[in-house]
Amino acid sequence: MRELTVYYCKKCGRYGFYQVARNAVCPVCQIPMSIFPMSYQYFMDLDYTLRDQLISEQIAGIPAAAPSVVQRITEEDRKNNSRGDVAGMKAQYDALVLENRRLHQKNAELEETIVWMHDMIWDLTLKLREAPRP
Ligand SMILES: [Zn+2]
Repeated sequence: MRELTVYYCKKCGRYGFYQVARNAVCPVCQIPMSIFPMSYQYFMDLDYTLRDQLISEQIAGIPAAAPSVVQRITEEDRKNNSRGDVAGMKAQYDALVLENRRLHQKNAELEETIVWMHDMIWDLTLKLREAPRP
């Protein structure tokens, strides 16, 4: 039997599980659904709140933490936890979101520095060009 894939509707956020892509059509919006980048097994272990959160972030195009990354990082923990401790996973997810925000902020700072350095270099280049040759 083929594995089920998680699909979600980009318009309304509804999700479903299908074996064949052509069956993945939103029952409400009547549009093809998109693949959600997380395994069926893993997705099923998440509580409803976390599922909705991940899907709404995916739709917004700014996943606080890519689902595939959440899955990879928490996978090890999951193996050691047969109960599928959702609270623990939620805590880990929250930690990942925070870490991601921190990295985004750091990235923005570095971006600013690059723009500033680029402007300075450009400015110097222009000055050098204008300067009379010795
Ligand atoms: Zn829909």
